[in-house]
Amino acid sequence: MNDPRTAELAQNLMAVRARIQAACEAAGRPVAKLIVVTKFFGADDVHRLAALGVADVGENRDQEASAKHAQCADLELTWHFIGQLQSNKAKSVVSYADLVHTVDRPGLVKALDKAAHAASKRQDVLIQVNLDPTPRPERGGSAPDDVPGLLDRVLAADGLRVRGVMGVAPLGEDPGPAFARLSQMAALVRDEVPDADVISAGMSQDLEVAVIHGATHLRIGTAVMGSRPNVRYRPVKGGKFNEGEAQ
Ligand SMILES: *Cc1c(COP(=O)(O)O)cnc(C)c1O
Repeated sequence: MNDPRTAELAQNLMAVRARIQAACEAAGRPVAKLIVVTKFFGADDVHRLAALGVADVGENRDQEASAKHAQCADLELTWHFIGQLQSNKAKSVVSYADLVHTVDRPGLVKALDKAAHAASKRQDVLIQVNLDPTPRPERGGSAPDDVPGLLDRVLAADGLRVRGVMGVAPLGEDPGPAFARLSQMAALVRDEVPDADVISAGMSQDLEVAVIHGATHLRIGTAVMGSRPNVRYRPVKGGKFNEGEAQ
């Protein structure tokens, strides 16, 4: 696609890849994986990204993600589910997500395990750790103290395979200490599962800090896609897709 939007995405991607390269080089770390967060943007943009060499995309709402995934069936992409997940959406998410970043409570472990068995799939997951100085359940993520117990549950669920940890920096605070806590949680998980080496951390604003603290996967929205529109992309009845009011 040789349109202005493709040119814009290409330019943004180049800048973000340069930031990632520089940050990883400065930290003496292998180049982290770029996950482009496409929430709010349409399947046409996902096609543009794929044509520009993007291999990984992230979505945070099941309804939007499943619709977009269906519209991108022709693309070889790795789909990351990065949003808070209700147990009743587990079956749907398991049908398209390659990696679920947001396992944060025993009930969700159970639901994902059941869905994975039903789909004859081994579902890769990350344990989401709440990084707020005082845990804020409404932001998602397990309190750090609960991570060992949650990890035991995941290890006991043979439909799931734990690949590492995920975290979102606290709002309005220095992300450094938060990402340092996430790195400790990652080490704790690796003590049990040595190859669970994924640390999903870092967004448009803080990717450099995340890399310093060992991020292997970066979830980048705005810096690639531009500001999110205030309406979400979502399906409408009849299998067609349309813009919808933000929910
Ligand atoms: C939206 C979102 C991102 C991307 O945020 P940007 O600041 O736009 O880069 C990353 N992680 C999660 C969990 C998100 O919901």
